[in-house]
Amino acid sequence: MDNLVKTLRHLEGKSYKALKQIQGTYTGSDFTLSIDYVQGDPFASPSKFRVILPYSSLGTEKAILKTKHRKIALEDFIARQVNRQFIKHSPRKMGTGKGGLVFFDAPGQEILERTAVKLTERSIEIRISAGLPANGRKIRGHDAARLVGDIIPFTAKKAIELFSRNDLSTHLELADDQQMIRDYLEQHGYVTFIANGAVLPRESGVSNRPLKGAVPFHTPSEFEKTVPLTNGKTVTGMALPEGLTLIAGGGYHGKSTLLHAIERGIYDHAPGDGREFVITRRSAVKVRAEDGRSVHSVNITPFISNLPFQKDTQSFSTPDASGSTSQAAAIMEALEIGSTLLLMDEDTTATNFMIRDARMQRLVEEEPITPFLDHVSDLTKTLEVSVILAVGGSGDYFEQADNVLLMKEYKPYDRTEQAAQIAEELQTGRLEQSGVPLFVPDARPFDRKNFLRQWDHKQKVEAKGLHTILFSKNRIDLSHVEQLVDESQTRALARIVSILVKTTNETMTIIEALDRLYAEIEREGLDALAVFKGQHPGDLALPRKEEAAAALNRFRR
Ligand code: ADP
Ligand code: MG
Repeated sequence: MDNLVKTLRHLEGKSYKALKQIQGTYTGSDFTLSIDYVQGDPFASPSKFRVILPYSSLGTEKAILKTKHRKIALEDFIARQVNRQFIKHSPRKMGTGKGGLVFFDAPGQEILERTAVKLTERSIEIRISAGLPANGRKIRGHDAARLVGDIIPFTAKKAIELFSRNDLSTHLELADDQQMIRDYLEQHGYVTFIANGAVLPRESGVSNRPLKGAVPFHTPSEFEKTVPLTNGKTVTGMALPEGLTLIAGGGYHGKSTLLHAIERGIYDHAPGDGREFVITRRSAVKVRAEDGRSVHSVNITPFISNLPFQKDTQSFSTPDASGSTSQAAAIMEALEIGSTLLLMDEDTTATNFMIRDARMQRLVEEEPITPFLDHVSDLTKTLEVSVILAVGGSGDYFEQADNVLLMKEYKPYDRTEQAAQIAEELQTGRLEQSGVPLFVPDARPFDRKNFLRQWDHKQKVEAKGLHTILFSKNRIDLSHVEQLVDESQTRALARIVSILVKTTNETMTIIEALDRLYAEIEREGLDALAVFKGQHPGDLALPRKEEAAAALNRFRR
């Protein structure tokens, strides 16, 4: 380390390019600093560092690493500590461009497997980026020495040394509790659990933080279950059984908020989030209409057949889907990837896909769409795929519903029996449409050649924000993939697409290709997605296979 500091000081006033020489590994008192990448100029993407400390400095048993969810929780905890310390101790901007700025991929409300902190039985590795300082193109050597020789390693070290033991045990215990609820759902055939007292609404449409002063969740007694947690604790809340559940209620009474919380329950949430005990089956997929999206070779015949001009719906492709065809495709894609819980909100569905009443049935004879209403029992009864549907505009689903919740001033009430009774008294008068029964479609081949055709080796496949992956000139639009929550997931998706296009053989299905890559991630950790092995892998967080498939499915051929 002393040499590094000396070198940097000597570089004071020299040309920026001379910084390249500091790339390498340096040993400090009880840490190692690895400088994996040095930026070419002060405006370029920041330089990459890894601070490596012995695992023993954490003072925590290694056994934690043996249990997947605990390891992720511990890495997440450390990442939050690192972020806290950098917020406290980050230097001011130094000179030109990104000089002096430290970047760390801090976790948000969700606890995700990410590359920011990597634990092994030997070491704690903290991945950081920072802008090396300059005035114009002249190195600020003394500032660089302070940043790299002092601030970066010692702030990272502080994160390991100064945290509260109490907070750590709370964090790990919560992870265990969340896992216990997941196991409970699986063992008892529930699709989602929401604890009494949970805070579901978010601060705003652009903030994922809990709304202050929200009405806490309260379970209708009919759905109340008490789930055992660690250390003799329990949690009481709403456990929703399999089948079709309707979330009914007046406008603005909290239907969408409840559904959104359920959607996000595929992830574990951090202490203080309000949704710590909102846990949903991992395979849950939000299905929505997404007109304008691209669809490639999806069999949508159960929902749509006899399109004008004999357009094929057994292998339906379009660069510009309509609301209903996009929703049909989304359902078939979700079934293909193996989802056993579909979530839908009338706010984002295509009405003509969801319902078709008696009057319209009489007026329009040539209707290519068999509405979802006529297939929902195929799903819930035959295929054993559950559905949760937020709906306030149509009672046509009452006959099919296994559970009906009514939202009133942000609280759910059980109205299953009333809804069944109303369905008896007020017949819809509509004719049931049969169409092709719904099925789980065959896995489609991964059409690698279509990707290769557009592959421009000079351009990277990269993420742009949360919602876009740039693949050469092609833009994969993920703005309606609602369960994608973190930009680091999008960066990981860009890597996944790129790796699949490079390594998959022609005969694999999308699912086989994803299974193979995810098995590798399972073995090697998320670093498996890195471009340069053994270096700072970039800021990545693990998306589900469902989101990876969503990205491939939206690629414009
Ligand atoms: P709906 O889908 O029934 O029309 P929303 O779920 O969109 O209603 O909720 C309407 C508004 O109420 C939103 O601004 C939301 O943040 C707020 N809200 C939802 N649930 C709660 C709650 N439990 N406490 C306070 N405000 C809430
Ligand atoms: Mg709504």
